[in-house]
Amino acid sequence: MYKDRSGGGIMGGGGSSRSEILGGAIDRKRINDALDKHLKKSSPSTSRVFTSKDKDSFPSTSTAKSQLHSRSPDVESETDSEGSDVSGSEGDDTSWISWFCNLRGNEFFCEVDEDYIQDDFNLCGLSGQVPYYDYALDLILDVESSNGDMFTEEQNEMVESAAEMLYGLIHVRYILTTKGMAAMMEKYKNYDFGRCPRVFCCGQSCLPVGQSDIPRSSTVKIYCPKCEDIYYPRSKYQDIDGAYFGTTFPHLFLMAYGNMKPQKPVQNYVPKIFGFKVHNKQ
Ligand SMILES: [Zn+2]
Repeated sequence: MYKDRSGGGIMGGGGSSRSEILGGAIDRKRINDALDKHLKKSSPSTSRVFTSKDKDSFPSTSTAKSQLHSRSPDVESETDSEGSDVSGSEGDDTSWISWFCNLRGNEFFCEVDEDYIQDDFNLCGLSGQVPYYDYALDLILDVESSNGDMFTEEQNEMVESAAEMLYGLIHVRYILTTKGMAAMMEKYKNYDFGRCPRVFCCGQSCLPVGQSDIPRSSTVKIYCPKCEDIYYPRSKYQDIDGAYFGTTFPHLFLMAYGNMKPQKPVQNYVPKIFGFKVHNKQ
C-alpha cells in the first residue's frame, strides 16, 4: 500500500515536470492538462460508484484517487502561474476538437464535424490502426469515460497520442468531403497553410499535402497550385504527419473549386552572369 501511494505521488509530480523537461513539449503539456481536466471531471461519480458497489476494488480506487489528488494541485498551481497563456478553465466548454485544432502548430487541421465522427461508416477500418481506439474516440468526442482514472500516467499519454492519431486519420477522410473541403477553403483563403516561397508565385496561398497515405512515412508539405510544386512548411508544422492530409487532398480540392486554381506563373527566373544569360551547355 505504502509503496503504491508513494509511487502515485512521485508519478503525479513527475508527470508535470517530465513534460516540462521534454523541450518543445508545450502541446503535450496542454494535452496532459486537458486530460487531467477530464479525469477530474469524471472522478467523483466514479469513486462513488466504486465505494458503494465493490469493496474489493476499493484499495485500487483509493490509489487511483490519491494519484489524482496529488496531481490536481500541481496542475492547478501551474496553470495559475502560467496565467493567460492556457487561459485557465475556459476550455471547460470547449470541445476536444476545437481545443486540439487551436493548439499552436495544429493550425493546418480543420475542425471535423462531430456528426461525421459519430457515423461508424466514416471510421471504417480505423479501429485496427489506432491503439486504445475506444478511449481515443471517447476523448475526441468528449465522452467522459469512467475508465479514465484507472489509467496510469503512461497509459493516459498513450490514449492522448492515440487520440491525436485517430483525429488525423479521420481528418484525412473528412477533408475529401464537401463539408471538409469547405472548411479547408476558409483556411486556404486565410493563408493558414502559408504562401509559396517561390518569388514568381507572388505569395500564392498553398494547400497541405502528404507525400504518402501511410502514417509515419513523411511529414506534411505544402503544395503551391501556381508552380505545382511542394515545399516544406514553416518549422512549427514540420512534425505533423503528412498522412493526416494525404496525397489526394489539394488536387481534388482544386478540381472541386476550379475557380480557385491560379494561372501558371508567367515569369521564370533566369540565371545571369554580369547581366548575360548563362549559356546552357549540355
Ligand atoms: Zn509556387
